[in-house]
Amino acid sequence: MKYRENRRTGDKISEIGMGTAYIVEAERSEAVKTVRYAYECGINYFDLAAGDGSAFGIFGEALSDVRDEVMYQIHFGADYSKGTYGWTLDLDTVKRSIEKQMKDLKTSYINYGFIHCQDESRDWERYQRNGILRYLLDMKDQGVVKHIGASSHTPSVIQEILDTDIVDMLMFSVNPAYDYNHGEYAYGGVDERADVYKRCEKLGVGISVMKPFSGGQLLSDKASPFGKALTIYQCIRYALDKPGILTVLPGAQNVDEIEFLLKYYELSEEELDYSIIGTFAPPEANGKCVYCNHCEPCPTGIDIGAVNKFYDLSCIGDDMAKAHYLSLEKNASDCIGCGHCNSRCPFSVDQMSRMQEIRKYFD
Ligand code: SF4
Ligand code: SF4
Repeated sequence: MKYRENRRTGDKISEIGMGTAYIVEAERSEAVKTVRYAYECGINYFDLAAGDGSAFGIFGEALSDVRDEVMYQIHFGADYSKGTYGWTLDLDTVKRSIEKQMKDLKTSYINYGFIHCQDESRDWERYQRNGILRYLLDMKDQGVVKHIGASSHTPSVIQEILDTDIVDMLMFSVNPAYDYNHGEYAYGGVDERADVYKRCEKLGVGISVMKPFSGGQLLSDKASPFGKALTIYQCIRYALDKPGILTVLPGAQNVDEIEFLLKYYELSEEELDYSIIGTFAPPEANGKCVYCNHCEPCPTGIDIGAVNKFYDLSCIGDDMAKAHYLSLEKNASDCIGCGHCNSRCPFSVDQMSRMQEIRKYFD
């Protein structure tokens, strides 16, 4: 397992985390065994926006003795009073739900207390007006909630929430289908979505990824907008390549599925290469580097994806990006203009020209 640090909190978070989709479908003892096995494999970050209230008891049974070694995202606005998931903006319902979730989880604290699923501005206004945000912030003042998070599918609402500067972690739906305007939650244009990743990286706000496979759409030749199925590993790699991303949160319902997910770390670069998506990129995505490194190898050894990522971040005012760029073993100054990258890029990026532009910018 590899870990990425949330710069605002210092937490070291496993690149592959775990969501609760599917776990509630398993028989209880199998579910407990699976969660425990995930922990034993190094997964330390768990999202608890569960589809069913039984999930909390499963995690409580599996992890309460190692509670301080794992992190939970808990959602202020998810209601389980009827057993299954419901979304609420009612303060008393939120309070009752959080108390019950913590009791079932056998925990006295919450690592990341999430402003839950704000997809529209008017909901975000009501969330504040109804006192739920105040309740969450009070829990933080009392030390019960360690850090604040927010989940949303909508870039414009995310920007509003980021403006408050109270959030240390975001949960966002990240996959190549949504990023290229396909699928149920493909909210926001190509640039709006890219701006969320870049702003989070700049602010040090980590992103945890929900719906990394677009609800399974990307894993089927028939349903995928790219006309060809991607593997779960290509989808995980796609998300982890984006600025700001700390962890991807797939679901699993047995030990075999956890083992299957963790094969990610055994695969070659070719097996993780998702550049097929470039052939179906919408016009507004063409010419924009997605940091995939499909154009490698560069004969002078430049990490082309990293150079481009730090350049883009520096352009939006990320103070640390220049230092990161300068710490690379090779950078745009080493480009010899051979054109190999241009001929390989499936996103029509004129990388030769871009290297010159980047060199001038950092000179
Ligand atoms: S230039 Fe193209 S192939 Fe190379 S990293 Fe950027 S998007 Fe990927
Ligand atoms: S043009 Fe520059 S960046 Fe591209 S492959 Fe050649 S040397 Fe590397």
